This record gives sequence, C-alpha cells and structure tokens, in this order.
Amino acid sequence: MLRVAGILNESIVDGPGIRAVVFFQGCPRHCEGCHNPSTLPFEGGTEYTPEDLAKDVIKRLTPLHRGITLSGGDPLAQADGVLEFLQAMKKLKPGLNVWCYTGYVYNEVKNLPVLKEINVLVDGPFILAQRDLDFPYRGSRNQRLIDVPASLEKGEAVDFEL
Ligand code: SF4
Repeated sequence: MLRVAGILNESIVDGPGIRAVVFFQGCPRHCEGCHNPSTLPFEGGTEYTPEDLAKDVIKRLTPLHRGITLSGGDPLAQADGVLEFLQAMKKLKPGLNVWCYTGYVYNEVKNLPVLKEINVLVDGPFILAQRDLDFPYRGSRNQRLIDVPASLEKGEAVDFEL
C-alpha cells in the first residue's frame, strides 16, 4: 500500500508545463524550514493500492498536462510501491513524463528500480542556508535537476537542461 498526503490536479511550479502532483506521505528527513511539514509522519495520509492510485491520477490528466510530478514527503521512501504505481500509470498512458522530488541525493538512490520510470529527479534535502526562491523548481541551491535516463546510461549524474 502507498500512503498519499494529497493530489493536486494542476500545478505549474513542480516542473515544466501543467502537471498533476502526487504528494506522498512520510519523509525520514526533517529539514529545517521544510515546505510541507504535515507530510513528514509516516502514519498519516490516505492508503491506496498502486493500481487504485494510478486510476485516480489518470482521471485528472487532460490533453494540456505535460506529465506528473511526485512530491511529498519523500516519494522514494516508498520506492517499491511508487514503482508499481508508475508501471500502472504507464500501462494506461505510455510515454508519461515523470518528475520526482526526493531528499536523497542521486548516488543514494541510483540503484532503485523505480529510477528507470523517472525522467527528472530533483535531488537533495532542503538546506535553509542555501534557500533561493529564484532557483527554478527547487527550494535551495544544493538541489539538482538530474536527467535520469542519461545518468543511468552514463553511470553518473547528468544535469537536466531546462
Ligand atoms: S526532504 Fe523535503 S519533505 Fe523531507 S523534510 Fe526535507 S524538505 Fe521536507
């Protein structure tokens, strides 16, 4: 089962274009200044099977959507269930574009099978001292946009060019 804090039908700040956003419940980090503290406990949220979550999210997508974004909480704290969710999504919508926020850095999660289903990983914890409100799609300057397919092919983190 997956624990989900909430689902946003449309966002323009969580990756390029209009995107549906799934906020997963639970994050093992407690960054000072976390933008979403209510999503940190692993006990909260609503439980979904990966398949039911896919059916729910797919209903929200319109022809104007550029893709979906996984946020939280930390989606990769539930990596196995998120893998099943993304596989179910792509059965319904092949070629779906997926961005994923995580508090882990790329090297910590690069071997997770779910990475193969993600286009762009926004990695690293939020660091209050490095906060930058003008840094596209990120909260602090330590966070990177990682081109996941290129990184997996090259064997090291490759920046995603906006
Ligand atoms: S990784 Fe993200 S969700 Fe987790 S505590 Fe840090 S800012 Fe909050």
